[in-house]
Amino acid sequence: MFLVSGEIDLEIKIIEGLERISEIFRIQLWRESLKYQLNPTQSLVLLSLQKHTRLTQKDLQSMISIDKTTLSKSLKTLEQKTLIERIVDQKDQRKKYIHLTPKGKKIAKELKDFYKIFLPLLKKTNLSNEDLFEFIYNFIYNSYKLKFIDTQKMCFNCRFFQLQDQSYYCKYLEKKLNKKEIQIDCKDYQEKE
Ligand code: SF4
Repeated sequence: MFLVSGEIDLEIKIIEGLERISEIFRIQLWRESLKYQLNPTQSLVLLSLQKHTRLTQKDLQSMISIDKTTLSKSLKTLEQKTLIERIVDQKDQRKKYIHLTPKGKKIAKELKDFYKIFLPLLKKTNLSNEDLFEFIYNFIYNSYKLKFIDTQKMCFNCRFFQLQDQSYYCKYLEKKLNKKEIQIDCKDYQEKE
């Protein structure tokens, strides 16, 4: 199908709009981070560790999609501020997991509340939350398939995910997943072997 120029214009405007939305998040996170003398990358590390309890540096790198050096510097600063600690895996001494300290947990919880400032905006759209979520999910998943971002902890990448009788099924939770239950960033996710 060929797109006429009006349709292309609209598609470009949609992409520009998505970029603007990402900018709004970045600015708000920056403002919020300043309250705790953090930068947005350090805040994203704390938010990721609040959700996932066993993350390595490599996991964090994929989740936040930043380069190794920037992440290493952020982790070092967070350690100096006693917000995170590294714990050696008992079974594999070469592996270190990064955890929040009690002080880090408190700040991560307060940072998480910052998402709530966007909730009223969802009520101002004519789209249903389900349709909006489906669009966002597919956008992220297709970005991953096109290699714009690293592996994400999403259902469609997960070893527990199955298609059963035209429905989605999670072997870990042992239940069918409806559209609303599909995960973008699941704490129980495991990579396919
Ligand atoms: S464990 Fe999480 S990511 Fe994996 S299929 Fe189940 S809900 Fe989805």
